[in-house]
Amino acid sequence: MAEKLGAALEKLKSTGVRMTPQRHAILAYLLETMCHPTADEIYKALADRFPSMSVATVYNNLRLFKEAGLVRELTYGDSSSKFDANISKHYHVICRECNRIVDFECDLLGEVENAASKETGFVVDNHRLEVYGVCADCQKKHSKQLN
Ligand SMILES: [Zn+2]
Ligand SMILES: [Zn+2]
Repeated sequence: MAEKLGAALEKLKSTGVRMTPQRHAILAYLLETMCHPTADEIYKALADRFPSMSVATVYNNLRLFKEAGLVRELTYGDSSSKFDANISKHYHVICRECNRIVDFECDLLGEVENAASKETGFVVDNHRLEVYGVCADCQKKHSKQLN
């Protein structure tokens, strides 16, 4: 985590973005959490430490990080954008009840790109995939309701 933050800070510096305590805190929070927060959730988590910070500030900084290639913006369904500082190749499984997003990896999907390329002659460089379902916590809630 400290390593990741260091690398992210270096990258940001190289794009000429000035580091401020708020930016540092937002980036550190994103790298720490695995839960793909919205701008609003990040704001709430940091509001105690930065009373003068607004949601708009958080959002502007997230956009800046996104342009620097440090975070991904996730736009699933019609809920507000979520942010992910894990920019390595991974996929998301999304709970349709509580909207929680969980990371998973799957090497098989490279095969899909190969197949697409072979069959169509395209130079394939990307694909998008989301998996939907009901998370373990929500399943538990249901079984409690039934009892
Ligand atoms: Zn759930
Ligand atoms: Zn993710």
